[in-house]
Amino acid sequence: MSRHDNTTTEEYLELVAVAKTYGGTTTAVEDVTLSLEEGELLVLVGPSGCGKSTTLRMIAGLEDPTTGDIRIDGSSVVGTEPEARNIAMVFQNYALYPHMTARENIGFGLRMTTDLSEDIVAERVESVAETLDVTDLLEDTPDEMSGGQQQRVALGRAIVRDPSVFLLDEPLSNLDATLRAQMRTEIQQLQRELDVTTVYVTHDQTEAMTMGDRVAVLSDGQIQQVDTPLACYYEPANLFVAGFVGEPSMNTVTARNERNRFVGPIEYPATTQLAEAADGVERVTVGIRPEDVSVRPDEEAETATFLGTVDVIEPVGERSFVHVTLEGGPHVTAAVDGTPRVSELDRIEVRLPPDRVHLFDAETGEALHHPQRRSTATGLHPVADGE
Ligand code: ADP
Repeated sequence: MSRHDNTTTEEYLELVAVAKTYGGTTTAVEDVTLSLEEGELLVLVGPSGCGKSTTLRMIAGLEDPTTGDIRIDGSSVVGTEPEARNIAMVFQNYALYPHMTARENIGFGLRMTTDLSEDIVAERVESVAETLDVTDLLEDTPDEMSGGQQQRVALGRAIVRDPSVFLLDEPLSNLDATLRAQMRTEIQQLQRELDVTTVYVTHDQTEAMTMGDRVAVLSDGQIQQVDTPLACYYEPANLFVAGFVGEPSMNTVTARNERNRFVGPIEYPATTQLAEAADGVERVTVGIRPEDVSVRPDEEAETATFLGTVDVIEPVGERSFVHVTLEGGPHVTAAVDGTPRVSELDRIEVRLPPDRVHLFDAETGEALHHPQRRSTATGLHPVADGE
């Protein structure tokens, strides 16, 4: 049950054609339209400099949009002071007061912005500390805490105010990889528990894929796609999303459309389905995910099979990435299970199966065709009640 169940609008936080230009020349945000339902966690992801922080700052009221509207719970907030918006923001550098204890840091904002009694402030600080598991640290100052502990206290300071919108700007970038993974899960659990509409900003696509109910991919100040993480992966709206989401990136090669084949640095045979999808488009970009590339040395050539030389093999635990240069020049990365039977400098055959290929219009970058999603893991299902 939502905390704000007396509202009539379903969309709680809306950005409508928001743009921000600095000094009339620098466009930080060109066109952002987004809407979040109440209690939703949306991840705003994109490379450095694409306008993520500016977008968050506009939601928080630290900047005004040059054009466009921002609405919270159905009312425009453009021009209202940050304090009037009841928004809490957490940054990557924590911004804790160094001379204050955790208890003082968490309670500070409440004391400044409300006229709650000392008893109630103390009670709320205790309760938030318990939620975040930092009760033992309440008398410590930031220099006595680890990075993860400081970040928890920073979260505590934000949630103690019971905000209606929660904005997180790269909150985990200062943490090491293990702690980052752990805090990701914790933030998701906390967000669900608090049921607060949340925008989480990151440049890290892995973080975006693992955290969001939905992901908004931003590039050059423009929204590229707003979708579930899996839809961004399997059905990227354009070449930018295709290249940005997924590690290693989707392999791509651009070619002239000659109906039954795509001719570029390699000549790719078009199936009827691919030819139909590319109909009327002069130049196409053929894309294939590394896990869909098959590396099979010593086998008879068949369609969509190309000769290449292995450049590098990268073992990454249960999988290896095989980087190959195909004859004609394109580089292709294959993700294979286990340790591949090929070695560096080997001449091998690489198959790019037509039923695993994505097609894009090379000029506009727009997607023309996606293969079927791979089936999800089997053998894993929840235990029904009473079982
Ligand atoms: P991100 O958070 O995605 O890294 P930002 O929102 O910080 O991106 O910045 C987007 C673009 O706007 C960048 O090119 C940045 O240099 C520019 N920018 C941000 N703030 C200002 C400002 N106050 N004045 C001028 N340019 C700015």
